[in-house]
Amino acid sequence: MSEFSIATQLVHAGERRVAPLGVPAATPIYATSTFVYERMEDVDRVVEGEREGFVYSRYGNPTVAALEAALAEIENGKFAFCFGSGMAALHAALLACELSNGSVVLASQDLYGASLELLQTIFGAFGVRTVTADFSDLEALRSKTQELKPRVLIGETISNPLLKVLDVETVALIAHEAGAKLIVDNTFATPFLCQPINFGADFVVHSATKFLGGHADATGGVVIAREDFDRPALMGALTLAGGVLSAWEAHSILRGLKTLGLRLEKQCRNAERLAEFFLDCEQVEKVIYPSLAGERQTEIANRILRKNYCGAVLGVRLKTDSRAAVYEFMNALRLCTRAASVGDIFTGVVHPATATHREMSAAKRGRLGITEGLLRISAGIEEVEDIIADLEQAFEKVDFSELPIASASGYVEFEVSGLSRI
Ligand SMILES: *Cc1c(COP(=O)(O)O)cnc(C)c1O
Repeated sequence: MSEFSIATQLVHAGERRVAPLGVPAATPIYATSTFVYERMEDVDRVVEGEREGFVYSRYGNPTVAALEAALAEIENGKFAFCFGSGMAALHAALLACELSNGSVVLASQDLYGASLELLQTIFGAFGVRTVTADFSDLEALRSKTQELKPRVLIGETISNPLLKVLDVETVALIAHEAGAKLIVDNTFATPFLCQPINFGADFVVHSATKFLGGHADATGGVVIAREDFDRPALMGALTLAGGVLSAWEAHSILRGLKTLGLRLEKQCRNAERLAEFFLDCEQVEKVIYPSLAGERQTEIANRILRKNYCGAVLGVRLKTDSRAAVYEFMNALRLCTRAASVGDIFTGVVHPATATHREMSAAKRGRLGITEGLLRISAGIEEVEDIIADLEQAFEKVDFSELPIASASGYVEFEVSGLSRI
């Protein structure tokens, strides 16, 4: 018989049992916001950092810590912190670079749309100036860096949606020569294809929502750091801005990580096969994929990415400027998803002009090559012939001969409204 009433028993029964003997083979979900200790002195020591332990999940949770340990190891960093999304991770990495009124950020011009917007709107409001540059023109980048003295350079290992491979090695040198830090968004390459810290990056950021998780069932982000001295700044950005990852999401992403190699293997091979397929399609003007982007890009890809891998994402420019025709093609897909993401086990097709780069003016998109006819395809793990059959049947449903043909520089001005961005 319990000494307590049933109402009290319902609250406390079964809780706070001592961990059983035997270490769990897989990390459990520690669905707890707080951790209790027998003695207050022990709490004190943990809070002081004299002893390892957990107190409150915003400051650390064992499931999240397991994912952080895994990612720090896999990306060859000193430590990692996980966040509630890729954007929260980027925000924290930028905060950790100690930006203040008047500092300059030099950003790759084809950075993920929301990343540029974060810099321009949120950081811009605090007086941080963001300048964009073509990170594939290294000489121009070097002189711009020396001229502007930015605190940070930020780029993507494989850019979105134009899939340019960043010469991380040279860009890290350019940044460090000028006393700047380098943040690399490694979402599209993943640590299976590239570990930017090995090439000198100071912070590596991921949207774990994409390849790391890989199953379209978890939202998260991570920052991995090259140097221990950045720990307090990043820890502050995590615990004070408070964008922590939940134990549930951490568990899904940790599970996803285990098959990242297997998935990427298949996804990259599928992407290559899809690139071949599109090269032979009469409706396609251009296929964008690092191995097809000329000698210079191939050299960078060979040096920066895993040998013979160019990623799981490709771009396809259809021979049309008509949004209606592009939508018609996308609507006709039966197997490929129209999901606004990349890196899932499903093959997904995205229309960057109205998704990732919706906020950008049509003129700017046109200059960057993000035209109305551009599609971004993220290869899944399905049987590739099934994906191709789906694309073929969708092409058959659209009469491209009736449509205006995209000219080399041609884009059509569209009013863009709404705030959704992916
Ligand atoms: C999706 C994405 C982000 C943002 O990540 P969220 O998890 O959606 O916040 C940042 N960078 C790249 C390259 C992405 O694809």
